[in-house]
Amino acid sequence: MTHMHVAGAIHADAVQAGPQWLTRPADVNALDRAVWSSTVTRGDDGALRVGGRDVREIAAAEGTPVYVLDELDFRQRARAFRDAFAGWHVYYAGKSFLSRTIGRWISEEGLYLDVATGGELTVALRSPIDPARIAFHGNNKTLDELRFALSRGVGRIVVDSMDEIARIEALCGDHGWHASVLVRVTTGVEAHTHEYIATAHEDQKFGFSITNGQAMVAMVRCHMSEHITLLGIHSHIGSQIFDTAGFEVAARRATKLLAQFTAATGAQLPELDLGGGFGIAYTADDSPESPDALARELREIVEHECRGYGLAVPTMSVEPGRAISGPTTLALYEVGTVKVVDIDGGQRVYVSVDGGMSDNIRPALYGAEYTATIASRASAAEPVLCRVVGRHCEGGDILVRDVFLPRDIAPGDLIAVPASGAYSRAMASNYNHTPRPPVISVRDGRLTTLIRRETIDDLLALDVGE
Ligand SMILES: *Cc1c(COP(=O)(O)O)cnc(C)c1O
Repeated sequence: MTHMHVAGAIHADAVQAGPQWLTRPADVNALDRAVWSSTVTRGDDGALRVGGRDVREIAAAEGTPVYVLDELDFRQRARAFRDAFAGWHVYYAGKSFLSRTIGRWISEEGLYLDVATGGELTVALRSPIDPARIAFHGNNKTLDELRFALSRGVGRIVVDSMDEIARIEALCGDHGWHASVLVRVTTGVEAHTHEYIATAHEDQKFGFSITNGQAMVAMVRCHMSEHITLLGIHSHIGSQIFDTAGFEVAARRATKLLAQFTAATGAQLPELDLGGGFGIAYTADDSPESPDALARELREIVEHECRGYGLAVPTMSVEPGRAISGPTTLALYEVGTVKVVDIDGGQRVYVSVDGGMSDNIRPALYGAEYTATIASRASAAEPVLCRVVGRHCEGGDILVRDVFLPRDIAPGDLIAVPASGAYSRAMASNYNHTPRPPVISVRDGRLTTLIRRETIDDLLALDVGE
């Protein structure tokens, strides 16, 4: 039986048993640099600052929940990939978070851009990015989407099925267009990540299998087509990957396929795209590789393999999404209710905030772990194990499964959740008729709205019945 207590009645023996990886912090106000964007600090008054602004001012000006994006941090991460992978093409994966301003920043920082739907492509084309620097992905691109992309001069179509190759040939034949493509291949790598975000094992929907020969068939078909220039192959093994062994195996198998293609046709393909999926720190438990280390490892492997096969080293690409956008953004919520429940071995404090699974589905979808901190003040109270939950009608509506917050956490406090820049606003929904939060960037004390807050009138505008 579960007993509920009113806020303020948190006992001295409140839960001590967190998951093993979570250590009880000595100082509940401390910020772990690994998970916060570079300009986040806690001011002398205890409140968080980001981009030179106090989060209490941001909440007062913009309301909560709100995604606060640290522009300098975003640009630094984009540049770090660009510089580490100098000579390669670095495609920012727009599906992690895209707006017209993001398209501009990506263009200004000299990156390329990945899109996965006609919608993302439309946003990209309304930003200053050069269409020739865009690559279009997806396992089921419609004829309309392909027509749109080809007519606008999108630089690369990453083909994913025989049906798609036929559609591209038909469109190009009708309109006198020409398509530059990469063939997406499945390398058979078992990435050590959640099943739904692993994409290179055999039994899933993406790509042409190398093992069963379909990849070679698709490559030869594109190579022979009068409407298509086959530039190379593409491999993406999954997301939130820390173990670089997966990328290494994929790079080896992809290079071998390039060598086999050259042996079969005499032609050498100029490009090799190794995809994205580089992990980031959501909690102190995650330790991602630096872009420099990743670049060094991938470069060494491909160069070594190419030497072995007597191939010229192709122009290589990577496609970081989360590793650029994820760490840049904190989600800011206001605490509405605090509740204590008895569980085995103690108690758990449920802290309900004014957002939830509609603005971050990842914990419910993948069991993703996040952390949080009290943002509107520092507290001298001792740490207690909390669960930060949303306001939706689902028991699984959890934002942070386990986190130590101060015992005096109370309604009206602000809570910040770091690493909320990737796949949070991008995957947000209107569940429970909840308008989606805005994305506000901040730099040198100045706030800029990238995406405004949705309103109930926006939602009612879709409801044309009576
Ligand atoms: C999702 C995706 C990416 C980006 O993945 P991240 O985990 O955000 O780095 C890159 N390439 C392709 C093809 C993808 O589907």
